Amino acid sequence: MAITAPFATPHLFSIIHRKKKEKLGIALLGLGGYAGGQLAPSLQQTEYCYLAGIVTGTPSKVPEWQEKYNIPDKNIYNYDNFDEIADNDSIDIVYVVTPNALHMPYTIRAAQAGKHVICEKPMEISSENCRKMIDACEKANRKLQIGYRLRYEPRHQKLMKWAREKTYGKVKVIDTDFSFYGVNGSNWRFTDASLSGGGPLMDIGIYSLEATRYATGREPISITAQKYKTIQDKLPGMEESIFWQMEFPDGMIANCGSSYVARRNYVWVSTENGRYGIEPAFSYGGLKGMVNGDSMNIETSRKQQAVQMDAFAQNILNDTEIIASGQHGLQDMIYIEAIYEAAGSGKKISF
Ligand code: NAD
Repeated sequence: MAITAPFATPHLFSIIHRKKKEKLGIALLGLGGYAGGQLAPSLQQTEYCYLAGIVTGTPSKVPEWQEKYNIPDKNIYNYDNFDEIADNDSIDIVYVVTPNALHMPYTIRAAQAGKHVICEKPMEISSENCRKMIDACEKANRKLQIGYRLRYEPRHQKLMKWAREKTYGKVKVIDTDFSFYGVNGSNWRFTDASLSGGGPLMDIGIYSLEATRYATGREPISITAQKYKTIQDKLPGMEESIFWQMEFPDGMIANCGSSYVARRNYVWVSTENGRYGIEPAFSYGGLKGMVNGDSMNIETSRKQQAVQMDAFAQNILNDTEIIASGQHGLQDMIYIEAIYEAAGSGKKISF
């Protein structure tokens, strides 16, 4: 039955209007290194979403962003007037790109303002906060994606497929590490544990953790861990290096690490009938996939973040399931808490 104006509520009209959109508007919230260096350029390549607005606490950043990305005045917000975004139909998605411990408040405010949310990794600094974010999005009936760009990357997707289909036999042992060398600068990730929630594990080790889950296709049954600190006057309240081991069902083992004083960036999978992996594995580009000594022969031209954001926009437009879901973010946080607990106590944590 056709809906005629006298019987249709404004809300119904807004839903109909939203369904007709072909491209969704994204507002980036927190205009730091990742938003400026990766997300805004990626939004120049997206097909199903575009950079519509910004939310920033630093007014001096506004003119450059407006000029570079043609952002109208009506789509610019600060943290005080952010909730007014509820009245702005040209913003469909808020992308939260702040320090980790601010992901929860902004995700909840965005969902309550009726916006879908992409939240950067790690999802927050505790599983309790992750649960509150999921609840808020569910209550507001809004979708939530975590910024796990590699869940949409074709080489990483091969690891998922080969685990699922046992293409090279059963997975036996996974080696993975994401580290970089250099505790430099005053950035919150090196200086403020109340914002970061931890050291390299929270920041980059989370990629290795993620890889163990999709390269086995299973969830771990136990975790042991060790942490080290050699530079005592840096990284207050955070680890400098952390190593952890995970047992999965069916005799699969993962040996993992993350450090701010090492140069490692790989995931390697040994199976009954071979060995495959990616090295470098976790960078924004230049990934090299290998299988049994040969190249995976995968060419990519689009930025990882463009693929990730387009996938989310399509999830919204077609009401389909999110690959990098809030549940994945929460599950990773539960394992991160277990890794820290195991490293602190020296005990094996079983699930
Ligand atoms: P950054 O320090 O460069 O930027 C953070 C932004 O948040 C800054 O613009 C800052 O002004 C703003 N901000 C708002 N409130 C703040 C407060 N109270 N204190 C400090 N800053 C505040 O950090 P970044 O490297 O852009 O990281 C932002 C988020 O993105 C983090 O959660 C990080 O883990 C994530 N990240 C993800 C990837 C990825 O590959 N997916 C890469 C880099 C960063």
